[in-house]
Amino acid sequence: MSEIKHHWKMAARARRIVLKVGSGVLTHDNGLDIRLIRSLAKDIAGCKKEKREIILVSSGAVASGLKKVGLSEKPRTIQQKQACAAIGQASLIMAYENALNRYDHQVAQILLTSNDLSNRQRYLNARNTLTTLLEWKIIPIINENDTVAVDEIRVGDNDTLSGVITSLVEADLLINLTEIDGLYDRDPRIDPEARFIPVVETVGRKIEAMAGSIPGAMGTGGMYTKVMAAKRVAKTGVPTVIANGKKKGILKRILAGEAEGTIFLPRSEHLAQRKQWIAFTAKVSGRIVVDDGAKKALLKSGKSLLPSGITRVTDRFNLGDSIEVVDRRGKPVAVGLTNYSSEELGQILGCQTCDIESLLGYKHSDEVIHRNNMVVGKDMMR
Ligand code: GLU
Repeated sequence: MSEIKHHWKMAARARRIVLKVGSGVLTHDNGLDIRLIRSLAKDIAGCKKEKREIILVSSGAVASGLKKVGLSEKPRTIQQKQACAAIGQASLIMAYENALNRYDHQVAQILLTSNDLSNRQRYLNARNTLTTLLEWKIIPIINENDTVAVDEIRVGDNDTLSGVITSLVEADLLINLTEIDGLYDRDPRIDPEARFIPVVETVGRKIEAMAGSIPGAMGTGGMYTKVMAAKRVAKTGVPTVIANGKKKGILKRILAGEAEGTIFLPRSEHLAQRKQWIAFTAKVSGRIVVDDGAKKALLKSGKSLLPSGITRVTDRFNLGDSIEVVDRRGKPVAVGLTNYSSEELGQILGCQTCDIESLLGYKHSDEVIHRNNMVVGKDMMR
């Protein structure tokens, strides 16, 4: 399996997902695209069946409002925009509610301004409400409170808002659905030579400049705010996927591990949240036995697990599964997400890292379990 596929498989393991949907995705010439919303609702219902939690951040209020009052272009004054948002927001929520009710799911509307997020008390209030809704299995649908948010108190765009919400609810994946397939080095709508960027390891100046050259058609942000939100989210240890929301079944495919869009990898040093999940929640699918040298490297030196220290593999498991590392006497040493399946480990156990490729014909990574995806010793809490 290639490295890219590996990243997508990892993203597909997300349990709590913030799903941002852009105005251009949700609307067409006649206003809200009800067919698309129904198809999205079907995918969301599928996620719920898989026991995933979805928090929607949905744009489309202004765009749908202006179609309803018969304006053909973006309103000019802030008052007109706010009026359109007030009109459109009602239809937007109704459309989601109708579509999701078909699958017996309830929705809740949450409208926020930046004050609600920058003030600690209000931030915590918002978090408590969201947590309660998630406990009740309700689907929160968040938008900026455009009707009251004037410039000084605006988040400004829903890409930024979705990034903040990802931290607020401690989600493990942000999916940003827009009208193009992901990040390109130039605007693909005007430049047929534009090159697609499937994976972004770090958002630096070059990536920011690429994103800056791709404006949004309908909403406010364009690619720049999406990439900046991904950058922020990566710092908290969470990946972002930017993909084409106009493609039918896109959410389902992303969460099946298919490479659909651009994936922004998380910064590995900040995985505290995921580590909690590994430590407390992830179901262990198998065990591997390590020698005393590897045990010491894991417990005392903060190292990753390499194939050389592995002496035996028990049970069958897949890449990305959570597995337990035990010592020769069967005592648990660590638990973590494996970069290799049990079958692959059977072929590479005991070998040097430099020999992985010649033994398997490919290499996912040097480490069998990277330190960032591992909880050791007493942190395991099992
Ligand atoms: N809050 C706006 C709306 O619902 C969209 C903002 C954005 O596109 O980022 O219409």
